[in-house]
Amino acid sequence: MDIRIETASSAQRRTKPADESKLVFGNTFSDHMFRMDYRDQQGWTEAKVVPFQNISLDPAAMVLHYGQGIFEGMKAYRRRDGKINLFRPRQNFERMNRSAQRLCMPTIDVDEHFDILETLLRADHEWIPQSRGSSLYIRPTMIASEAHIGVRPAKEYIYYIITGPVGAYYAEGFNPVSIYVSDEFVRAVRGGVGEAKTMGNYAASLLAAEVAKKKGFTQVLWLDGVERRYIEEVGTMNIFFRIEDTLVTPPLTGSILPGITRDTVLTLAKHWGVKVEERMIDIQECVAGIETGKITEVFGSGTAAVISPVGSICYKDKTYTVRDGSVGELARRLNDEIVGIQYGEKEDVFGWVHEVKI
Ligand SMILES: *Cc1c(COP(=O)(O)O)cnc(C)c1O
Repeated sequence: MDIRIETASSAQRRTKPADESKLVFGNTFSDHMFRMDYRDQQGWTEAKVVPFQNISLDPAAMVLHYGQGIFEGMKAYRRRDGKINLFRPRQNFERMNRSAQRLCMPTIDVDEHFDILETLLRADHEWIPQSRGSSLYIRPTMIASEAHIGVRPAKEYIYYIITGPVGAYYAEGFNPVSIYVSDEFVRAVRGGVGEAKTMGNYAASLLAAEVAKKKGFTQVLWLDGVERRYIEEVGTMNIFFRIEDTLVTPPLTGSILPGITRDTVLTLAKHWGVKVEERMIDIQECVAGIETGKITEVFGSGTAAVISPVGSICYKDKTYTVRDGSVGELARRLNDEIVGIQYGEKEDVFGWVHEVKI
């Protein structure tokens, strides 16, 4: 793939954070971005790394009206020896293509996608933070840019990648979050777009999150859209329960986002000899299990936090405290192992790490 590189001038360069530990997630962006454009007949053209800049869109651009837009979320990690690691990047590229297919958007060749991301990271490698726990967040995004009013798949798209340094997720320690079970709103239904990383899913989740926040909870626990009974996800993470000696997570039935961290947790737990089940979990089973102590750990999984322990769950105005609200041993072990592999400190048994040659 031919990628043109336009290096940012000194005037175009952005201010690097003075203190990595004070980085607020999603507020700081690197000097460059990648962009390419798609037109029917021609395919993807004009691949380039350019200074971080605005995108100009026609007000009739279809993404602005019909929400034909998808994204990914991944990170680059700087090891102690200075080398740069990506974690299971192929999974992100393949999931992006599945999201694209679900929304009738063009796909990107996975090998070319590696080329694209590595070229961008080479331009901005100095933006990958040094401190353990911090990383460079990577946001690949595809939008329908054709100017047209009328519902059908667009004929023109823009694909771009922006990146930005993010601090350690647990700046104040690995603390459990409180979650609120939404039985009023649902995130997704089977047959819908819940398993695609599409923009509209997040717009649809905002009101429930606001309601939860007002009640004093940090995240929403989503139930299935039909019976509002079976647990699906927590906020923008997959969810796990340790029920006696078994690690249980809901199965990928179509309304759940197939998280890469979810798959990582399942693979590691099996490798360690922990019994693992992918099955439906009734919210009644969940709260009863927490009350009786059968459920000893609850945690979310996702790229941003890796493992996010859940300390309490509020359902129908009753709050259930998981164990004594402290972090469980399996959650801690999984977090340490995954973070250790990402930073090249623990053995990469499954070949998950991809080193970026700068
Ligand atoms: C991105 C995302 C996840 C987590 O996926 P990872 O690949 O583990 O980062 C889970 N649920 C939702 C709704 C998401 O958007």
